[in-house]
Amino acid sequence: MNDPFDGELTGDTAILRVRVRELESENDKLRGILAKSDLDCIYCGLPKKDMGRCYFGFPGCGRADDLMLEANDGRKPEPAK
Ligand SMILES: [Zn+2]
Repeated sequence: MNDPFDGELTGDTAILRVRVRELESENDKLRGILAKSDLDCIYCGLPKKDMGRCYFGFPGCGRADDLMLEANDGRKPEPAK
């Protein structure tokens, strides 16, 4: 994977780089949890059971991407109901 932060970094920049990675990781985790939850889609508003009818398509809707985030976290995504 390409690292946009490649290069020699020191001091505050190095600390910020680590912090950004932590926050990205936490954000991905939360997006995955939200996507898997029974809440309506945060992108298109459809309830979970109707995610297949999404205007953006599925995959296509952000929820599909977020489900993949959780899959990449080592856990299996639940099939759509
Ligand atoms: Zn959606």
